Amino acid sequence: TNACLTAIEGAGALNAFVHNTPDLARAQAAEADARLAAGDAPAMCGIPLGIKDLFCTKGVDTQAASRILEGFKPEYESTITDKLFAAGAVMLGKLNMDEFAMGSSNETSVYGTAVNPWKRSGDDSALTPGGSSGGSAAAVAADLCLAATGTDTGGSIRQPAAFTGTVGIKPTYGRCSRWGTVAFASSLDQAGPMTKTVRDSAIMLQAMCGFDAKDSTSANLEVPDFEAMLSGDIKGKVIGIPKEYRMEGMPAEIEKLWAEGTAMLKDAGAQIRDISLPHTKYALPAYYVIAPAEASSNLARYDGVRFGHRATLAAGDGIDDMYEKTRAEGFGPEVQRRVMIGTYVLSAGFYDAYYNKARRVRTLIKRDFETVFADGVDAILTPATPSAAFGLGEMKNADPVQMYLNDVFTVTVNLAGLPGVSVPAGLDAKGLPLGLQLIGKPWDEGDLLNIAHSLE
Ligand code: GLN
Repeated sequence: TNACLTAIEGAGALNAFVHNTPDLARAQAAEADARLAAGDAPAMCGIPLGIKDLFCTKGVDTQAASRILEGFKPEYESTITDKLFAAGAVMLGKLNMDEFAMGSSNETSVYGTAVNPWKRSGDDSALTPGGSSGGSAAAVAADLCLAATGTDTGGSIRQPAAFTGTVGIKPTYGRCSRWGTVAFASSLDQAGPMTKTVRDSAIMLQAMCGFDAKDSTSANLEVPDFEAMLSGDIKGKVIGIPKEYRMEGMPAEIEKLWAEGTAMLKDAGAQIRDISLPHTKYALPAYYVIAPAEASSNLARYDGVRFGHRATLAAGDGIDDMYEKTRAEGFGPEVQRRVMIGTYVLSAGFYDAYYNKARRVRTLIKRDFETVFADGVDAILTPATPSAAFGLGEMKNADPVQMYLNDVFTVTVNLAGLPGVSVPAGLDAKGLPLGLQLIGKPWDEGDLLNIAHSLE
């Protein structure tokens, strides 16, 4: 813990941690020492973590990287952080992210962007650590913490993991409780670990998941021992390679990486099978209807009364002025864009044409996966991202759709509610890390992590 606190002090330029909690960290570490001395050391005992700013932490600033939550100190602890603390973990502080987890580069944060510790060889320009869990990925990659929490609505754990050479798993929808995690799109949001190795992910995920009566979508299922499932034996496992993920214009090095990953799994005894997920091309548009729709509803609660920021009002202003001014000042441009898109697609005249259609497409995407799994496929291998980490400002200043395209390989998994993991799989020609994604059957995180382990 002390080593991490020192490292954090020296790494201000990465802008990964946005609220530091050194006193709490030292107190939790001392408690962990006492538990160790008493021979009662749970799995995460004394492990120093960074916590994404989306998780409510009792008495500690929780802003979801938004101005609208300025000064918000929750009265309660999220189930995820509560479970991690019960397992002995230490919180070093809160981590940077895109505002309300909307983004793929960490550039929508009120704190300014987090920076990727990796650089292109011979080029000093700053790169994105990805998003929305950009601070989590940067902090783990730069050794500021041993692991971090992330959340993934459309790729926000897997894409930053791929951009920083770290491991990130989004579990099956319902595996991790959403209680006390600031909501973005409730039918897609899942928490998960971001770590240096697959084994660390297995251990940390174990501590994070389990039934929670406070989240109505929490699954009441037994949690297997994920670490014990890392046997390294994947003989006979059927790995599907979906042809629809071979996108036109995909960089040759991503193709090459994917082929190498396929060969590694084959060498380890897996059986490789070409598969088709025919509705893949509709995933991105469906996601960018459903996620903003749910966000516009979830974010309606930020009204200047119950949480955080309230605009200064002029004489004669009424309650509508208060809402309007507070929300105009409190939400950044990307969040405002999503609230407007979401409100539009949910409005009476457009609900059927957009929202309901997107929900039907979502069902078709889910069925594509069900069909291949029913045919005996155990896991699906794809690239995690269409490129390596890009430069700060490079995408932000382009059309917002350019940024959305970055999520092309990850959003299908959220729409279908499946587990997906990103594993570091090599470096590109400029020396930047690239990731491969494995998609698994529902509740099959243990098997998925075991297959991922054989790619390490
Ligand atoms: N980049 C996607 C978005 O902006 C996904 C974000 C996420 O998973 N939280 O919506």
